Amino acid sequence: MNELTMLWRYQQADMDADRADREIRGAPNRLKLLKDRDFLLEQQNTMRKIESDLAAMAERIEALTVDVSKVDESLRDLQDTLEEAEPESLDIARKSLDYCQKLMHSIGRMEQELQKIRKDSDVRAKQQHEVRVRAARVKVEFDKLKVTYDKEYKEQSGALEVLRKKAAQTAQDVPASLLEKYKSIKKHKIPPIAILTDDRCGGCNMNLPAVVMRSIRMGAESVECENCGRIVLVSKPD
Ligand SMILES: [Zn+2]
Repeated sequence: MNELTMLWRYQQADMDADRADREIRGAPNRLKLLKDRDFLLEQQNTMRKIESDLAAMAERIEALTVDVSKVDESLRDLQDTLEEAEPESLDIARKSLDYCQKLMHSIGRMEQELQKIRKDSDVRAKQQHEVRVRAARVKVEFDKLKVTYDKEYKEQSGALEVLRKKAAQTAQDVPASLLEKYKSIKKHKIPPIAILTDDRCGGCNMNLPAVVMRSIRMGAESVECENCGRIVLVSKPD
């Protein structure tokens, strides 16, 4: 068997293994799992964001509650002072009233903020619950599919290993320089070896130049396609 036939056989084995590899990577269950995994990671990030929002809100509620009780206390002190003795002058009475209004106003403002935060906090808590339920549902689906896929993957990768071994065995019959050439063409063109078809390169379908056709008529068994760089075999090996 000549080296071009060996190379052709190697290409067939190599392409078979590559196809199996592509099938593994493009397996619907694998793609679904990857999608589910990304979704779960996204939910985790959302959960973390919600948790930190809730913590910040709780902290703000606590601070506001302390402030409200302080202002409340000031208000009570003022009330006590006014009850103990009548204001000495109208001016003092007016100032006390202003102060009282200021305190009431700031309590009102803080209570408004508290109300808003509690509302926002409820919304976030509801979202948290929804995310949790959604993520749990997908996780169950993911775990179930993972069991099926792991089995499937084991079988597929076993089959791929057999094909790779077969290709490696076939490669042993191909001269090293030819194999190197094959690998270097494969980086750009797949499959790297084509068959001459009606004076055209079977890979890119371009007509081979007259000078190349002449060398074929002179007995060359293979030529290089100037257009795509493939090795073109003049006839398909058995
Ligand atoms: Zn070509």
